[in-house]
Amino acid sequence: MATVRFLGLAETLNRKPVEFKAPFKKSSEYYGSNVFNDKAMREFLTKEAYVAVRGAMEHGSKIDRSMADQIASAMKAWAMSKDAMHYTHWFQPLTGATAEKHDAFFEPTEDGRAIEKFNGAMLVQQEPDASSFPNGGIRNTFEARGYTAWDPSSPAFIMNDTLCIPTVFVSYTGEALDYKTPLLRALQVVDQAATQVCQYFDRNVTKVHATLGWEQEYFLVDSAYFVARPDLVMTGRTLVGHSPAKGQQLEDHYFGSIPERVMQFMREVEYESHLLGIPVKTRHNEVAPAQFEFAPIFEEANVAVDHNSLFMDLLEKVARRHNFRVLLHEKPFAGINGSGKHNNWSLATNTGTNLLSPGKTPKRNLQFLTFFVNAIVAVDRHADLLRASIASAGNDHRLGANEAPPAIISVFLGQQLSAVLDELEKVESGKLSPEQKTELKLNVVGKIPEILLDNTDRNRTSPFAFTGNKFEFRAVGSAANCAQSMTVLNTIVANQLFEFKKSVDSLIEQGLKKDDALFNVLRDLISTSHKVRFEGDGYSEDWKNEAAKRGLSNLPDTPRALKAYVSESSKALFEKLNILNHIELEARYDILLEDYFKKIQIESRTLGDLVTNHILPTAMNYQAQVAEGALKLKSLYDERTFAQLAKPQLDLVTELGNRIHILSSEVSAMTEARKVANKIEDPEARAVAYCDSVKPHFETIRYHVDKLELSVDNALWPLPKYREMLYAR
Ligand code: ADP
Ligand code: MG
Repeated sequence: MATVRFLGLAETLNRKPVEFKAPFKKSSEYYGSNVFNDKAMREFLTKEAYVAVRGAMEHGSKIDRSMADQIASAMKAWAMSKDAMHYTHWFQPLTGATAEKHDAFFEPTEDGRAIEKFNGAMLVQQEPDASSFPNGGIRNTFEARGYTAWDPSSPAFIMNDTLCIPTVFVSYTGEALDYKTPLLRALQVVDQAATQVCQYFDRNVTKVHATLGWEQEYFLVDSAYFVARPDLVMTGRTLVGHSPAKGQQLEDHYFGSIPERVMQFMREVEYESHLLGIPVKTRHNEVAPAQFEFAPIFEEANVAVDHNSLFMDLLEKVARRHNFRVLLHEKPFAGINGSGKHNNWSLATNTGTNLLSPGKTPKRNLQFLTFFVNAIVAVDRHADLLRASIASAGNDHRLGANEAPPAIISVFLGQQLSAVLDELEKVESGKLSPEQKTELKLNVVGKIPEILLDNTDRNRTSPFAFTGNKFEFRAVGSAANCAQSMTVLNTIVANQLFEFKKSVDSLIEQGLKKDDALFNVLRDLISTSHKVRFEGDGYSEDWKNEAAKRGLSNLPDTPRALKAYVSESSKALFEKLNILNHIELEARYDILLEDYFKKIQIESRTLGDLVTNHILPTAMNYQAQVAEGALKLKSLYDERTFAQLAKPQLDLVTELGNRIHILSSEVSAMTEARKVANKIEDPEARAVAYCDSVKPHFETIRYHVDKLELSVDNALWPLPKYREMLYAR
């Protein structure tokens, strides 16, 4: 067994960076060249087809069949001009991975030849079997068939010689079976709600879109180590492994110089991303050893979500070419930081205004404050839903682990804006006096600087922080599909904006001037959303106590956190705004629970195998070896000298024996707990059983395995160690 480790080590020591050189000097020469973007559309589409696609992209207008035929044939011509001979509907089922089923353009003709065929019907809709994807029982109630349907708002692209068409994935009866469907619905309602509210300030606003800029953290390990770790292969994280002497305590990795092998990998990732029009701009080392980050420029949220899914796929593909494996798991290594995916979010108008960016005039700033306050209130009223949107088995290791924001949802505003809200809260009820209005406009609202100095005062411990011109939702997990958090965030903000509009309009109807009505409603909202605002250290114990006093939830595990999805108020909210009906919501809830307990089940089985087949045999062999050595000593010495001399050996034999005993009984107990859990039919109860009675064994088992790692001969240890995986590059 030991040879695996040393072969791996030898292999990694001989690694040379895999050189990568883009065939072009400047990104501008190839950026977006594999995307059916505006430039390609103008070149390949007829004028009327171009107008039809743009209409569908911008206003969701329908495309008829003959027009779809025209568009399909133009897409085919474009794709073939780039040597793509296949096409696929590309979608995001609730598995966490993207799905594609390639079909060739080619079609045999009667005279024995073949032609390339791709028509409107093929572009617009396909029918993959929904029963092979997570569907939460929807197919049992209705039909196994599912549909994928073209989403013209996200451009088609070519990957691996295949034309990929972004699509939604729904059941035969129209229930959403993917991430994109509810996201598109949420983006539509937030557009509607925000556009209405913008009318108070600017009549030219006809459309508002949500923006998303994700920051993707990940780990890289050498592929030789990866394949020698059954836990990494099966679960994406290490289930055992003692911390190395040097972790991240020297703080020498963050923004450090990028190792050459990693640099070559990053270059290729950037190149591939840019071909696909993913605007990746930033690359750097992260806090933990072997941890890195990529971030693009923000985009319209639906496109940004697709790009992130595509990007995670790209990372994995490119990593293999460089003899790396990328770990997207939230907590691949114990004892050092895990990975997140900050979701930077804002709202932007068709007139080019970022609604969360302060401006030059009091009027612009009142608009800014309106959206700012409503976003805070949305998070305050629906913190549990936001928490549910980031719940996963992997993210449970991160949230609240003093390296990532806690599982308590709060909002950080910064000193300056907190002060502004405090002033606004003092506004008197009803009609404002001319003096007060002047004072507010000139000295409160008017004084919000265009660039907020607080920008530098970043509070890294807040899960939802305002960072100058956007909110940064930091609690999202690195492996998550951003659609989940973006669907919930945009839904709750849309709902809040509708409520806001209702309140303001009702005051106007009662005779208040528009500005007076706005100030009155904002004041009420500020005074009723204090509990969610927190500027202090989110990692501290004090905050946990304080949050509990304020009545904020602290839901540290996924089964409990997910429950918020199916509360009566969530069902009503999602249904009212047509994001997800209660059947879809319940199906989704079951799918997420299932995903959770299956992941814990796989981890538990893998850990059992690791201990039984790798760790225990090694420890037992080593124990026998040491015992034999002791026996030999015994033949050389008298009783007293032997007892003295052989004490270390004898102690070690005992220690190994104790740990072997504990481990084998813990593994049996864990297996028993699994058997009990597996008999539970109800997904919610089963998830809870996995969380409460299977998972706790992991810690005890890990503790003793990690102690064994320190006791057993290094040459015999069957697994690559942390110090090797994290530092050998
Ligand atoms: P950092 O947070 O690392 O200091 P930035 O503040 O420049 O860096 O941006 C981080 C991320 O936020 C980037 O992906 C950036 O594109 C994104 N971002 C910036 N402005 C917005 C916005 N208005 N809406 C959404 N994302 C944004
Ligand atoms: Mg950031």
